[in-house]
Amino acid sequence: MKIRAEEIASVIRSEIESYRTTLDVSDTGTVLEVGDGIARIHGLSNAMAGEMLEFENGVFAQVMNLEEDSIGAVILGNYLEITEGMVVKSTGRLLSVPVGDALIGRVVDPLGIPLDGLGPVKTSERRPMEVIAPGIADRQPVKVPLQTGIKAIDAMTPIGRGQRELIIGDRKTGKTTIAIDTIINQKSENVLCFYVAIGQKESTVASVVDTLREHGAMDYTVVINASSSDPAPLQYIAGYAGAAMAEHFMHQGKDTLVIYDDLTKQAQAYRQLSLLLRRPPGREAYPGDVFYLHSRLLERAVKLSDDLGGGSMTALPIIETQEGEVSAYIPTNVISITDGQIYLIPDLFNAGIRPAMDVGISVSRVGGNAQIKGMKKVAGTLRLDLAAFRELEAFAQIGTELDKATQSQLDRGARMVELLKQDQYQPMHVIDQVISIYAGSQGFFDKVPVEQVLEAEKVVTDALRSSHPEIRVAIEKEKVISGDNETKLRKVLEEVVAGFLSGHGHDPR
Ligand code: ATP
Ligand code: MG
Repeated sequence: MKIRAEEIASVIRSEIESYRTTLDVSDTGTVLEVGDGIARIHGLSNAMAGEMLEFENGVFAQVMNLEEDSIGAVILGNYLEITEGMVVKSTGRLLSVPVGDALIGRVVDPLGIPLDGLGPVKTSERRPMEVIAPGIADRQPVKVPLQTGIKAIDAMTPIGRGQRELIIGDRKTGKTTIAIDTIINQKSENVLCFYVAIGQKESTVASVVDTLREHGAMDYTVVINASSSDPAPLQYIAGYAGAAMAEHFMHQGKDTLVIYDDLTKQAQAYRQLSLLLRRPPGREAYPGDVFYLHSRLLERAVKLSDDLGGGSMTALPIIETQEGEVSAYIPTNVISITDGQIYLIPDLFNAGIRPAMDVGISVSRVGGNAQIKGMKKVAGTLRLDLAAFRELEAFAQIGTELDKATQSQLDRGARMVELLKQDQYQPMHVIDQVISIYAGSQGFFDKVPVEQVLEAEKVVTDALRSSHPEIRVAIEKEKVISGDNETKLRKVLEEVVAGFLSGHGHDPR
């Protein structure tokens, strides 16, 4: 092996010398060994950690291990095309991605190569994939809401622009759906979206793209896809690529949202690479630096200071748990890095409570400051009310006779739970949310049969849009339901719900 490598090296050296190029011979190396997405390379004595390498057939690689007489690199492409003895060139650059307007509406791989068959992505700029996150002085507190359009989230775990909120839950609990709904809701919010799909099936990603397209959301979205059939190195770098693409716009003062779906698979890809590179395994066989994998990515979420243009990057990482096990290695890491989590549980999901958010342990540590006043007011007691309801409900199941007050509290609770259900792909405007939660928590739906609550909600919000727009406009302007508004709203709510109950619906004229 050793003899062969040197032989090849000397052949290359003489080739290059005879061509009288200006290439420095120390900047090329040869592949000693290749397999499973990893190449061991001889030569390249000046290679830097993280540097981009190029094989003679145009495939790229990234330097991961610097060893005494060889380097270990991960191949960012089809490693089956790389053969022993191939020439490798160092580029002197760190890994970078193309950035710019041309990416919007496209589906690309983590190197920015289009996957959607819509022709080349014509950008003139590139950005390094990995950058150091902005420091404290470059940031300002989170204070502008990022409306997801999902009632349960905007009311109880509100997200602000620049925040990192984790979506965590078992398989098939509606994690991706929350992300997609949030993207769809940005249509009127002027936020550019980046959906990074990591280690998912091609068909799943294709259907996400179809859904986004159907709802007109691809007009402001970039999809970065490293699917389960792509090599592990691509799955590992996809998140950083997405962040870099978003940063380009953020530094122009724009608001961006990046979704990492999901980081569990990224960690698994990284574990695979690390084991192949013979880095020592630690807990759950992950390498010791797996925390840094996610911390350096999520740290890049920021609300920039006004001096830097005030742009923002909001991050919604997704983590998949096994049997609700949030105390496993990767989930605990990411929980500790983010500013809160939306915890989805299969029991709720299967009981038809969708989004299946567990209100008890879902939190948002910073988004409350960003919530609009009206929402803060109506949603303030919602969480406690729901918790109290669940306790009472458990008690009531024992079958004891209940007094009137307890029964009415149960009835109200059941209607609030119903009201927080929301079908997929139907994000709701925040003012409609405020009106709906106000109506529910003030008892306007108490007489409506539980299974008709969502219908009644629709009748109410439609009526306020069509026949009483002035009330809605006033609430939107003042951002709160109070004073004159409140009196008028209560009157309308009473009328509309009464109309709904008498079976005629509300007559808009
Ligand atoms: P995976 O583990 O496969 O990534 P996931 O947790 O991302 O799954 P989704 O794919 O978002 O889950 O949702 C699973 C199924 O539930 C989908 O068929 C989706 O359409 C449905 N679903 C999710 N949320 C809702 C909702 N609010 N209303 C109705 N259906 C929903
Ligand atoms: Mg999913």
